[in-house]
Amino acid sequence: MDSRSSIGTIKGIGEKTEALFHKVGVYSINDLIRYYPRGFEIFDDPVPVSEIEEGRVCTVSGTVFGRITVSPGKMRRITSLNLKDLTGTLKVIWFNMPFLRNTLGRGGLLILRGRVVRRKEILVMEHPEIYYPAGKYEEKLHTMQPVYPLTAGLTNNTVTKAVKQALSCADDNDDLLPEELAKKRGFLPYKTSVMKMHFPGTKEDFAQARERFVYEEFLTFILSLRRMREEDNRAENTFAFRDDPRIGQFLGELPFTLTKAQMKVWQEIKADLQGKHVMSRLVQGDVGSGKTIVAFLGLLLAGFNGYQGAMMAPTEVLARQHYENISGMLEKYHLPLKAELLTGSMTAGQKRQAYERISSGEVSVIVGTHALIQDKVVYHKLSLVVTDEQHRFGVRQREALAGKGSAPHILVMSATPIPRTLAIILYGDLDVSVIDEMPRDRLPIKNCVVDTSYRNKAYAFMKKQVSEGRQCYVICPMVEESESMDAENVIDYSRMLSEELGDHINVGYLHGKMKAQEKDEIMEAFGRNEIQILVSTTVIEVGIDVPNATVIMIENSERFGLAQLHQLRGRVGRGKHQSYCIFMTASKSDETKERLDILNHSNDGFFIAGEDLRLRGPGDLFGIRQSGILDFKIADVFQDAGLLKTAGEDAAEILADDPLLEKPSHERLRTYIDRKMKDFLLDTTL
Ligand code: ADP
Ligand code: MG
Repeated sequence: MDSRSSIGTIKGIGEKTEALFHKVGVYSINDLIRYYPRGFEIFDDPVPVSEIEEGRVCTVSGTVFGRITVSPGKMRRITSLNLKDLTGTLKVIWFNMPFLRNTLGRGGLLILRGRVVRRKEILVMEHPEIYYPAGKYEEKLHTMQPVYPLTAGLTNNTVTKAVKQALSCADDNDDLLPEELAKKRGFLPYKTSVMKMHFPGTKEDFAQARERFVYEEFLTFILSLRRMREEDNRAENTFAFRDDPRIGQFLGELPFTLTKAQMKVWQEIKADLQGKHVMSRLVQGDVGSGKTIVAFLGLLLAGFNGYQGAMMAPTEVLARQHYENISGMLEKYHLPLKAELLTGSMTAGQKRQAYERISSGEVSVIVGTHALIQDKVVYHKLSLVVTDEQHRFGVRQREALAGKGSAPHILVMSATPIPRTLAIILYGDLDVSVIDEMPRDRLPIKNCVVDTSYRNKAYAFMKKQVSEGRQCYVICPMVEESESMDAENVIDYSRMLSEELGDHINVGYLHGKMKAQEKDEIMEAFGRNEIQILVSTTVIEVGIDVPNATVIMIENSERFGLAQLHQLRGRVGRGKHQSYCIFMTASKSDETKERLDILNHSNDGFFIAGEDLRLRGPGDLFGIRQSGILDFKIADVFQDAGLLKTAGEDAAEILADDPLLEKPSHERLRTYIDRKMKDFLLDTTL
């Protein structure tokens, strides 16, 4: 068994487990060595009950005090007990584990480890892990246990055991970094580093190892991009885009004028469309800055020139919204072009008809989800591909779409605030446009951070807004990381709110578990103001545009990331009415207060991303990958900006010296990039 062997050679991995590993992209021992944990559980000494802190994972040790109760009913049964130590008692609850009443009822010392939250003014430990008898905790005390990304059927325990064996095959000869480079940057040897990546003794150990692999991740990413781009770059612009007076006419008829920033970006796009090479442009602009209209102009120009243009959105709801919006404008401004919608949830018959209209060239603007890139879709002179909110897309999907025409122009739109300097390192010669200005008629959103005692006032406020013709979102409290639980919660909440607000206000709800068609219906009804208040999970986070909605109230806002809260808030303040964002929180911790204060005082996505980083600080081992910004395995473009810069410089130096990576010292790097980076690149996002 060596690092190249298949994982099937590991003791204890049978066919079934092997298949599960394949599912997460692990085939060889080497793959497993590089299957890094997504976090660690750090097992500290238990704390006295009187010292537990809200919002943190704590460990407590004590005995059951009084009765263990289980709430009646079938759904979301809650088991609760009081844990007592010398300093006090703590309420503890579990969801859907009624059997605990018997297991824990036997008495004796119990150790619990879980997150402490505030519920109805008191601190409660939610759904903790149980160490019973308490001795079981001893084995873990003071260790950092890796937590791996998993798939159904694959347990953390299985992965941990397999990794332990795999690590015995780690070999300094597998290091991708040329020896000199590793020395120059002062990294630990490869083998030592991978050991510490999985089983660090301390946080410092891990941080040191992580640095090396973050650097490696950036370096290989940048080198691959450069190489791929070499090839791409030669793609010539085979389309003849002529200016069309109808564009100016359309702009004149719009109810608003484009901002200077929108105009500038449109000019840049137009110049690209008429340039020698195909366009490859990223448009960045904060939520609400008006990216859609700019993309629409590109699609119009394509249509006027006899070509097709496609626009791909990450969700069905958003795709449908873009479609309605675009076909509405085509009709309203008497533009002689037709739009088509293509999404996965359409019936086979509907799809067939759409395919026909697309391949015959009858329609010019095609809007959809990733259904746009299925093999069955044959385009008729596809010249421009727009992807909206790109960070939700893999490069593979964009490439598949791009491959449908003869090298079409590519326009990528994103609200992700990547500082320009970083964008340039990452994207190299991909052109970046920034819409750095909000439409003039926008009133800045008014924010407030309030505790739960304000809830009734908030409802009254929403009622008043509705009576003035406006609409509201309520983002439902998150219960835990389970979609079915969130769904229940949304339904309960909307029922309660509906009773509270009375008959003449329609309350609708939306959650991730609903069928695509149901979601569409709800969104459309909300768009037509047939629903005045929409209670939702975070499924409305991206892109949704209902300018008449002026209030968003976010329950349990302490449980969301700053970037996510900013995206959610971006659902309001999209029209001419004054909009409001109510951050509701029961938390009294200083950390929560400081975090929410940032949002309370700023509506600027760039600033918020920066502050988010500052607050998380270097103590946060695993950046903000969960916010969807550039999906690296371990690297984080904000937190690791310094390493990114270094890797960018080193990549440039390497390529200047050895453009094709032919030198023996670059061999492993080249093979890795050729074989594996292609996959990695295709799966990750650009
Ligand atoms: P985002 O950049 O978040 O995708 P949208 O493109 O959805 O934002 O635009 C948000 C709203 O602003 C839309 O209702 C759009 O019609 C409107 N809008 C776009 N540009 C302007 C402008 N220059 N003046 C006023 N309203 C605008
Ligand atoms: Mg948008």
